[in-house]
Formats: sequence, C-alpha cells, structure tokens
Amino acid sequence: MLDRNFQIPFPCPKCQNEIKETIARLEANPTLTCPGCNTSFGVDAEQFRRGLQEVEQSLAKLSNEVIRIDIKL
Ligand SMILES: [Zn+2]
Repeated sequence: MLDRNFQIPFPCPKCQNEIKETIARLEANPTLTCPGCNTSFGVDAEQFRRGLQEVEQSLAKLSNEVIRIDIKL
C-alpha cells in the first residue's frame, strides 16, 4: 500500500508552477488550485486511480521478488 501522505507533483497547465498534493487529498477531491496563478484544474480521477493501482502492483511484485530471493539464499 502506498503512503497516502505521499505528495505527488503536478505541473500547472497555465504557468507550469509545480503543485504538490497528497494522495489522500486527491482521492477525496481530485482538484487542484495553483497558488501561483490561482487556476483550478481537475485531475482525471479514473486515470489517477489506475496509475496508483499500477504503482501498487509494481510495489507488490517487487516485494515478492525480494521474498523469493531471500528464500533462495
Ligand atoms: Zn499556475
């Protein structure tokens, strides 16, 4: 499981300012407001959820690899 307090950086579509928001906050409300130019924009919630799933699956796979290596040794 990913740390829900992990901050993901998003570039502002208007001024390219980097906006960081936590996973927990984005899961609850996938919209961001740029502090630089005050533009609000939405994160594609479905795409975001799929991306998170992929990362979590790779992490799970990685821990399986580690366990398998440990057993072999
Ligand atoms: Zn901006």
